[in-house]
Amino acid sequence: MELHRQRCQFCQSLELGCILRRDEAHPLTVYVRCAKCGELVARYKVGEYYHHGKGMESWLKAMRPGDRESARNFRADFDEVENDSIEEYQEVLEKLGEQGKSY
Ligand SMILES: [Zn+2]
Repeated sequence: MELHRQRCQFCQSLELGCILRRDEAHPLTVYVRCAKCGELVARYKVGEYYHHGKGMESWLKAMRPGDRESARNFRADFDEVENDSIEEYQEVLEKLGEQGKSY
């Protein structure tokens, strides 16, 4: 597993913010902006998006219409995404700490 804390390539700051864009042509695009110098740090085209604490509606909204199969499956899928997200986040924080890159 390779882990990096993203930093601004122009001023080396670790203070970053995310701008989210959603429209028909781009289901979800994330622009990472440096909070110090304002430069664009990175752009991500996101295939799956879990917004912690915002519930299933937020998650469904981020999905493509073609991915919607049945309301019954949404709950199970969402629960899995929620649990995985929390577990992965804790694991990543732990590993970052082991690698001396902790927050
Ligand atoms: Zn910067």
